[in-house]
Amino acid sequence: MRENIGLRVALLVSTLQLWCVSAIALELNTPVQQGAVLIGQLGEDEQAVYLGEQHLPLSSDRRFIIGLDRDHGDDLVLTVLKRDGQRDNHRYEVKAREYRIQRVEGISRKIMNPNQNDLSRIRQESAMVREARALRSTQENFLQPFVWPIKGPITGVYGSQRVYNGVPGRPHYGVDVAAPVGAKVRAPAAGTVSMVHENMFYSGGTLIIDHGHGLSSSFLHLSKILVEPGQTVQGGDLIAEVGATGRATGPHLDWRMNWRDARVDPELLVPPMLPSQSGSE
Ligand SMILES: [Zn+2]
Repeated sequence: MRENIGLRVALLVSTLQLWCVSAIALELNTPVQQGAVLIGQLGEDEQAVYLGEQHLPLSSDRRFIIGLDRDHGDDLVLTVLKRDGQRDNHRYEVKAREYRIQRVEGISRKIMNPNQNDLSRIRQESAMVREARALRSTQENFLQPFVWPIKGPITGVYGSQRVYNGVPGRPHYGVDVAAPVGAKVRAPAAGTVSMVHENMFYSGGTLIIDHGHGLSSSFLHLSKILVEPGQTVQGGDLIAEVGATGRATGPHLDWRMNWRDARVDPELLVPPMLPSQSGSE
């Protein structure tokens, strides 16, 4: 009897929790999975949305963006503040992904074993990249549909565990598209150029474009950069040329995307690359 009451109380409590946690599901534009870029929209009776302590800015049509990291935990909770002062927690299950292991051979000794000078250069360069990615502009280009910056065979995918010359390294966060040196790279969506570097230690010729609200695209190993910091670009504009600079074993474009500190998967933002487009038919 006592157990029975305990069970009933537990059921009641969990029902109440459920009711409080998601009164109405807040719709997100895409499946909630590791590496995803999610866009949601607040209703008329809602005034603000938070991810933990982070306040998420709203676009003019009340939309907001969140990016999930490669190793995001299985739970995502968004808190919505309503106009009447009430708070709703919306809970989503984050689907875990499986990542490939990719072996990369033929990296030069200099790149594998950076000396003191290289190390201070690497530190300076990563500070530059961090600064560019920390930009939180109010432009709303993240709401545009994204296109591939280049078409070609995909030779590296987001999240894969990299093993360089047999030594396990950090995961690969970009999508690699093989293309010859000098092949045209186009802006995947509109934005503002937030960083240009002719030759970084690891990433060679590097370009970062800010799409607004903390979302940015980075392009690595470029042979030539055709835009300048502060310049506004439209989706499809010519921005750079493919190269094999930095830690690259052959010419390709490495396209990465970040939302705030999270590294997200560019491939989830663009239509699938068709075999006829990748030249691998
Ligand atoms: Zn790459």
